[in-house]
Amino acid sequence: MKIPGKRLIPFWLGKKLRGAWQKYLSFRYRGTEYYCPYCGYHFRELLPGGTDLPVLTEKQIIGGGYRANLVCPRCFSVDRDRLIYLYLKKKTNLFSAPLKVLHIAPEGCIRALLMSLPNIEYRSGVKYYEGYYYDRKVNLIDVTSMPFESASFDVVLCNHVLEHIEDDQKALEEIHRVLKPGSWAILQVPISLTLQETFYDPSVKTPEEREKVYGQFDHVRIYGQDYPRILERKGFIVKQYSPSEDAKEEELKRYALNPDELLYVAYKK
Ligand SMILES: [Zn+2]
Repeated sequence: MKIPGKRLIPFWLGKKLRGAWQKYLSFRYRGTEYYCPYCGYHFRELLPGGTDLPVLTEKQIIGGGYRANLVCPRCFSVDRDRLIYLYLKKKTNLFSAPLKVLHIAPEGCIRALLMSLPNIEYRSGVKYYEGYYYDRKVNLIDVTSMPFESASFDVVLCNHVLEHIEDDQKALEEIHRVLKPGSWAILQVPISLTLQETFYDPSVKTPEEREKVYGQFDHVRIYGQDYPRILERKGFIVKQYSPSEDAKEEELKRYALNPDELLYVAYKK
């Protein structure tokens, strides 16, 4: 649910407190078992996270649900962020080529990485701040109607966003529009292993109903195994990347990845 009391303290103070809390946690959890590639710290364990709502277990939703060793104590990266890092490092030229990147609803750890790379021209945006933590320098952008020229980006990162958007078809059209031909997007969503078809019930409207039926108060559907076809219908070529393709079991464990989580990479023809 929404974070209570989030507006009771000014943003600058919240940022300072968050920084101090991160330093404390990274000291408290220091160790050798786990490694976060974003902040470069080692830990004996990571923080648990996620909720244990019945729907998340029943529908085997990858990217949702309670997980031990989920959140990096230092930079708050989660399993899918570290999977994305692995992919970017092993499969792309993101660390070296001059690329213009659009990052929707930017995860803090990925944003910090991209902003530190001198070869990247970086843009970021999010529609809502409420209930989430974003740096105030992130622009307000509606992904269903973006203020960017067509074919202007080499990469779009848009993770765990589409399940929040009523008109996800329009959002996908917009992402496709702003990408240059031959370029790519990472479009992760929570995805059910048991649902063959994406599930949506128009009678589900309130935050309480959405939490119960979809697993989060502001989700509007649960994507099923047809998700790649949804992307393909919008003109993308979809490739699924499994971390076990490249990483040894030891590396998967050190990054605390979910071996069942696939990365969905969508290419514009
Ligand atoms: Zn970290």
